[in-house]
Amino acid sequence: MTEKKKQLFGTNGVRGIVGELITPELVMKIGMAVGSMRPGTIAVGMDTRTSGPALINAMKAGLMATGCDVIDCGILPTPALQYIVMDKYDAGVVITASHNPGAYNGVKVIEKDGTEMDDDASIEIEERVFSNNFDLKEWKDVGTVIPEGDLVTQYITGVVKKFPEKIGEGITVVIDPGCGAAYRTTAEILQLLGCRIFTINAYPDGNFPARDPEPSVEGLAPLAEMVVSTGAMFGVAHDGDADRAVFIDDKGRFVEENKEFTLIAEYVCSQKKGILVTPVSTSRLIETMIAPYGCNVDYTAVGSIYVARRMRALLAEGMQVVFGGEGNGGLIYPDHQFCRDGGMTAAMMVLLLAAKKQTLSSLVDALPPSVMLKHKFHTGKATEILAAVRKKFEDDTLNEVDGIRIDRKDAWALIRPSGTEPLVRLYVESSDESIAKEFEQDILSCISSFI
Ligand code: MG
Repeated sequence: MTEKKKQLFGTNGVRGIVGELITPELVMKIGMAVGSMRPGTIAVGMDTRTSGPALINAMKAGLMATGCDVIDCGILPTPALQYIVMDKYDAGVVITASHNPGAYNGVKVIEKDGTEMDDDASIEIEERVFSNNFDLKEWKDVGTVIPEGDLVTQYITGVVKKFPEKIGEGITVVIDPGCGAAYRTTAEILQLLGCRIFTINAYPDGNFPARDPEPSVEGLAPLAEMVVSTGAMFGVAHDGDADRAVFIDDKGRFVEENKEFTLIAEYVCSQKKGILVTPVSTSRLIETMIAPYGCNVDYTAVGSIYVARRMRALLAEGMQVVFGGEGNGGLIYPDHQFCRDGGMTAAMMVLLLAAKKQTLSSLVDALPPSVMLKHKFHTGKATEILAAVRKKFEDDTLNEVDGIRIDRKDAWALIRPSGTEPLVRLYVESSDESIAKEFEQDILSCISSFI
């Protein structure tokens, strides 16, 4: 990770409360910075938030003032904009706060290749914003809005063509976009695959009246009920900008995201041998389940952008990279594009069930046991905690790509300071609960004086 610290940008762009951090003025300045750095034609889009129209117009003003032409894609999922930008436009911008509540909004900048902007470029944007350093054009050279047809169809077609024709025939699915951007895409994707579909919360509403944009167990209770009452094979729900997908099984149970990742990973790896890339915080279930196919895991820092860039770097070195993603339902399909894609993940679940000819509940229940213990400590003593852990566990296998991951044969743990807040997270996982608890106690006793 970069030495210079980002002030506005977090792991996934700039995000904050509208009217506080996020104002039209800030968004226009980010637009002028992006336009100065990536001159050319820029595609913009947004999720369904009430502040979206005001902020996207500020963004367009900033981009055009620096000479860029703008393609306005309107409301669409972040992965749809990434797909549209990929190798066709000079950059992209999405106005979204992803899974955050309706009061929030933010900006994600997309590079020419469809990936999210990296840390160094984000820092350059910040420096330009703070010092008002923009390449403003004179009257003859300001940009314009170029009218385009509905580009979202390109994305929908792009996903559908990755799958065998009518693979979804005989499969019933309930879709819950949560009033977010996926209302435009997932139902159509699954319908084109031949699925029979029902929807809930499938209309755009930035007040998010039905549930939070974060797809939680509680928020998805109505979806779960509908899956059971319609006899569907699964339910799928998205966060606000639909780069993530989570599932409800045929019995109406929430499928924990690491298990979702494991099931899809196992299927992908059964088809093609290679490397799977994921952050150090992801469950070891994946490693266990893909090993028999000769596949292995490459661990990165936490953040989908680090996963996507690592996948590309390994490919550039001539390695075979088959899959990537995070344990939160954000999965990356390298044959499709290098970003998390919720619509693609929904379609993959259809393929998985069609191929396995088993119910989702039986696939989940057949996974090996896993106990994951999680803690969050509010403390400013991250450096001291890491030093104490490093010393106490010096004889273990340590991975320090992000915090410290301790890998043992029967368990692993991660102690990781947050990049943005004074807090430290602890994860411990084992297939055996007593081993997980003992390991957890060992770590807690080592860091107890700092928490
Ligand atoms: Mg998101």
